[in-house]
Amino acid sequence: MAKLNIRKLGDDALRKVCRPVDEITPRILTLLDDMVETMRAANGCGLAAPQVGVLRRIVVVEVEEGVVYELINPKIIAYSGEQEAEEGCLSVPGQWGTTRRPMNVTVRALNRRGETIEVTGHDLLARAFCHELDHLDGKLFIDCAIRMNED
Ligand code: ZN
Repeated sequence: MAKLNIRKLGDDALRKVCRPVDEITPRILTLLDDMVETMRAANGCGLAAPQVGVLRRIVVVEVEEGVVYELINPKIIAYSGEQEAEEGCLSVPGQWGTTRRPMNVTVRALNRRGETIEVTGHDLLARAFCHELDHLDGKLFIDCAIRMNED
């Protein structure tokens, strides 16, 4: 495994719409491993492929230690409720903003074995899914924050 370089605000890769994965190759599996390692090393609870310069629809999320979601071609298929909370991003260091997100989010994706899975996240996990999936369309939390918060 290898720790990857996290792209920061201003890097073009963060503003691109990513392409779907059409085949889960060994290279994709290595990328998943490296993304998890990179996320953990940075103390993040999620990471999207464009944040490491790969313009593919892949995210990893770990809100609860040891429970890792590796989502390939993820899509939100249902959401409900609302929450307002502060969030930040490994690509936007030192900035925090309050966003409004659904309280419950169901995502359909492929796992690393190419199986279709559906996962429902609540509260922080729902927020993480929304945040990471936004990255795949070139969107950052600073675009949808209802206010930016000072430290
Ligand atoms: Zn982010």
